[in-house]
Amino acid sequence: MPFRIPPRAFKSSSFRLSVWYSGFFISCSVLILVMTHYFLSSALLRADKTAIVSELGRLTTEYNFRGLPSLQRELAENKNMYRGKNPFFVRIADISNRPLFILNPEVWEEFDLSLLASHPLHNGQWTKLASADEKAELLLFSRRLHDGRWLQLGRSSEVREQALGQFFRLFFIIIPPLVILGVAGGTFLAARTMRPIQHMIHTVQSIVNGNYEARVPYTESRDELNELAKLFNEMVDRIHTLITGMKESIDNLGHELRTPMTRLRNTCEMALQRGKNVDSCREALADCLEESDRILKMLNTLMDISEAETGVMKLHPKSIPFLRLLTPLVDMYQYIAEEKDVVLAIHAPEELYLTVDPNRMTQVLANILDNAIKYTPAGGRVTVDAKQSDGRSIIAIADSGIGISPKDLPKIWDRLYRGDGSRSTKGLGLGLSFVKAIVQAHQGTIDVASTPGIGSTFIISLPSNPRLASRHFNPIITEM
Ligand code: ADP
Repeated sequence: MPFRIPPRAFKSSSFRLSVWYSGFFISCSVLILVMTHYFLSSALLRADKTAIVSELGRLTTEYNFRGLPSLQRELAENKNMYRGKNPFFVRIADISNRPLFILNPEVWEEFDLSLLASHPLHNGQWTKLASADEKAELLLFSRRLHDGRWLQLGRSSEVREQALGQFFRLFFIIIPPLVILGVAGGTFLAARTMRPIQHMIHTVQSIVNGNYEARVPYTESRDELNELAKLFNEMVDRIHTLITGMKESIDNLGHELRTPMTRLRNTCEMALQRGKNVDSCREALADCLEESDRILKMLNTLMDISEAETGVMKLHPKSIPFLRLLTPLVDMYQYIAEEKDVVLAIHAPEELYLTVDPNRMTQVLANILDNAIKYTPAGGRVTVDAKQSDGRSIIAIADSGIGISPKDLPKIWDRLYRGDGSRSTKGLGLGLSFVKAIVQAHQGTIDVASTPGIGSTFIISLPSNPRLASRHFNPIITEM
C-alpha cells in the first residue's frame, strides 16, 4: 500500500499549534497585567504607609513641643491634608486608650471608631479597621507620646481601591483586542512554523507519486526546520542514489547470469540428446559443475559485499603481524608471477601488526595482488609496501601494468564493473567492490592512483586500534 499523509493530519497539527501559540501569547499578556496589578497595589500601599509614618513624625514633634491644643489648632487649619481627597485620620487617646480627640469624625462615619478603644495598642504597630459595609479599610499606625498618651494616624483604602478599579476597567478594555491580537499572531506564527513541514509533506507526496526529483525548498538560514529540510533532501538524494545503484546492480546481475545460465541450459540439452555416450555426458556434467560453481561464487561474493556494506558481516578481529598474513599469499602468487615473468617484491617491517579479521583481510590482499599480477604484462613488477604512519597501517600494492583510464577509475569499485581492457581476462568484476566493502567494515579506506600504460597503486589505510564489534574479539596474537 503506498504511503499517504492524510491532509487533515497536517491541518489539525497546524490548528493545534496556532491554539498553542495564541494561548501562550494571551497567557503571557494576562500574566503581565496581573503582575502590573500586583505591583501597582503594593506600590500604592507603600506610598500610603510612607506618608502616614512621615506625617505622624511631624505631628509627634508638634505635640511634644507645643502640646495638645496647639496640635488641634494646627490640624484644624490644615484642611487640605485632613479633609481633602485622601485625608489623614487622626486620633489621640489617653494612657488607657480612651479617645481624647478624633479629627473630623464625620469624615469617618463608615467606620465604627468605638472599636479602636477596645483594641490594645503597641508602639510602632500597624492595624486595620474594616468599614461597616466591609468595602474599605482604615490603615492605622500607632505611636506612644512622651507623656504616655497615644497618637494614631491612618488613611482609608478607598483612594487606593479607586486607582486599582480604574486599572481593572482598563484591563477589561484591553483584554478583547489582546485576545484578537493573540489569535491572529498565533495563527500567523503557526502558519510560518508549519510551512517547511508543509513543503516536506508535498515533497514526500510527489516522491510517492513517482517524481524522484522533488526536493524541499530551503533557505541558507540555520534554524532547525531549515536544517531538517536540508537533511531531508540529502536523505532523499542518498536513497535515490541507492535505488539507482540497486537497479543497476540487478540489471548487471541479470545480464551476468544470463550467459552462464544459457550455457548451462545448452550443455544439459545437448547431453540429453539421444545417442550420447557416457563420456560425453560426464563431460557435459563437468561443464555444468564448473558453470554452477562460477554462478555460486558470484552470488556468494555479492552476499558478502552487501553484508559488509550494511554492517551485518561478523568480523573476528585479531592482532596479527602483517607479514604472517602476507607470507602464505606471497608463496602462492610468487608461483603465478614467475609463470607470467612478473617480479613480486615485498617491503614490510616485521614489527608491523594489524588488528583485522585475518581471513577477510587475506581475501582483500589476494584480490588486489591477483589483479596486479593479472593486469601486468610479462617483464613487469608488482611490489607490496607496508608501514606504520600517524596511528594507521598503510599498505600500498603497486604494479607496472596496463593501468586504468581516468574514465574507468571512478567505476572500478562498482559491482560487476569490468574495464574495457579486461574483457579478455578471467574475472567477475566483483573483486574491488568486495575489497572496498571489507576495508570499510574495518573502518579503513582504500584509494587508487593509476596511469594507463604505466601502472596502478592501490593504497589501504587501516586504523591501528579500530573499534570493531565482534563477539569473539581476541587481542592475543594467534598463529594462522
Ligand atoms: P575483475 O574481476 O574484472 O578484475 P575487479 O572488481 O577486481 O574485477 O576490478 C574491476 C576492474 O578494475 C577490472 O575489470 C579492471 O578493469 C580494473 N582493475 C583492477 N585492478 C587493476 C589493476 N591492477 N590494473 C589495471 N586495471 C585494474
